[in-house]
Amino acid sequence: MRPFVAGNWKMNHTPTSGRQFVKEISPKAKGLDADIVIFPPFVTIPSVVDEARGSNIKVGAQNLFWEKKGAFTGEVSAEMLLDVGVEYVIIGHSERRNIFGETDELINLKLKSAISYGLKPVLCIGEHLAEREAGRTMDKIKFQLDSDLSNVDINKVIIAYEPIWAIGTGKTASPDQAEEVHSFISEFLGSKIKILYGGSVKPENAYQLMVQPHIDGVLVGGASLKPHSFYDIILAGLKAFKEKK
Ligand code: PEP
Repeated sequence: MRPFVAGNWKMNHTPTSGRQFVKEISPKAKGLDADIVIFPPFVTIPSVVDEARGSNIKVGAQNLFWEKKGAFTGEVSAEMLLDVGVEYVIIGHSERRNIFGETDELINLKLKSAISYGLKPVLCIGEHLAEREAGRTMDKIKFQLDSDLSNVDINKVIIAYEPIWAIGTGKTASPDQAEEVHSFISEFLGSKIKILYGGSVKPENAYQLMVQPHIDGVLVGGASLKPHSFYDIILAGLKAFKEKK
C-alpha cells in the first residue's frame, strides 16, 4: 500500500511553467514510494509528459469526450490523450458538473470511453453544503455511484470523494467526516478500489487525512500548483502510510 497523490492544476500552468514545475519536483520525487500524478490543462500536457519522462511522475487529463473523433468542436478524445502519453483522466469533477452542466449520464459515457481505451479514470463525487446540512450526504454519494458507474467495471476506477463545499474554499472536511464517507463508499462498492479525498488539502492537513484507514490518497487543487507544497503533501502521505502498515 502506498499513497496516491494527485495534483489537479485546473486552468493553471502554461506549457512553460508546467515544465518548470516538473523540473523542480522530479529529482526530489525520485524513488519515493508513492503514486504521483499531475493533471495539467490539455495544452500543457505534452511539455509535462516530456519533462516527466524517466521520473516517477505520471500524467493525467482533466476531462475527455467519449466519441472517438468527428465534429465535436472543442473536445478531446481518449485516443488523443493516449497519443500524448496520458495515463489517467479526471471525470465528473464538480466544476465540470456545476459550471459546464455535465450530467451523470454524460459522466457514465466518459467513464466507459476512458476504460475502453485503457485510461485510468478518477471519478469525482461529492455533496453540496445544503445536502450535507440536510443529512443527505450518503444519499447523494449513493446516487452518484449508482448512476455514474452503471455498467462500468468498478475495479478499473479510482474514486475521489470531494465534498463541493470544501473545494477551493479553504474549508476541509475533518478527518472524521472524510473517513465516514470513505468507509461508506468502500462498503457500498464492496471492492478494494482506491478512494482519494479532495477539498482544500494542504501540507498542514494532509497527514491527518491520509492516516485514516479508508483514505488511500488525495486529489489536490490549489496546493498542487507550487512544487514545494505539493512535495510536502507527498511526504505527509508517506508518513501516514508508514503508520498505517
Ligand atoms: C480539486 O480541484 O479537485 C480540489 C480539491 O481543489 P482544492 O484542493 O483547491 O480545494
